[in-house]
Amino acid sequence: MNINLDEIFDYTSFNVDREPHIKLNEEICKTCDQRACTNCCPARCYTWDEESQKMTFVHDGCLECGTCYVVCGNNAFTRWRYPRGGFGVSYRMT
Ligand code: SF4
Ligand code: SF4
Repeated sequence: MNINLDEIFDYTSFNVDREPHIKLNEEICKTCDQRACTNCCPARCYTWDEESQKMTFVHDGCLECGTCYVVCGNNAFTRWRYPRGGFGVSYRMT
């Protein structure tokens, strides 16, 4: 099966945990020169607002791919773990 990233949400469902499994120190993001997470996150969980110099992170649609953890070179996470059991994304590929 070949699917693109826009279609992947047709094959997923979420049981969102109110307690975020990823937490950021947004102060570190203000000094980040690349902000690779904003381009690399397939679920677009990271949004940088240039005017207000503010990073917004929303964990609801996280696909748990781990890309943000890999690309962040500034150790900006105060928490990065997978969601608690029963929460998070479920993939349906058939
Ligand atoms: S790459 Fe890391 S430090 Fe830079 S904006 Fe993203 S989370 Fe923040
Ligand atoms: S784990 Fe993947 S989907 Fe979740 S926030 Fe990080 S890059 Fe985005």
